[in-house]
Amino acid sequence: MSTNVYASRPSGRRRKLKTYGESRVCSQEGCSTKLSKYNKNTECHRHAPRQFPRTRGVLTEQAGEA
Ligand SMILES: [Zn+2]
Repeated sequence: MSTNVYASRPSGRRRKLKTYGESRVCSQEGCSTKLSKYNKNTECHRHAPRQFPRTRGVLTEQAGEA
């Protein structure tokens, strides 16, 4: 019986962060916000789905104006 052990090895330690390319911009039309190379989305943080800014549990809404 040969039991491999390396399934239990933690692989969360990486020195190098994954990057997604530099000088990318938001893919939303009309938006030219530059994206961080660490941002895995193709849209800026305003247009990326499912990202709500949280300020100590208070949602900052921008609705109403615009
Ligand atoms: Zn955008």
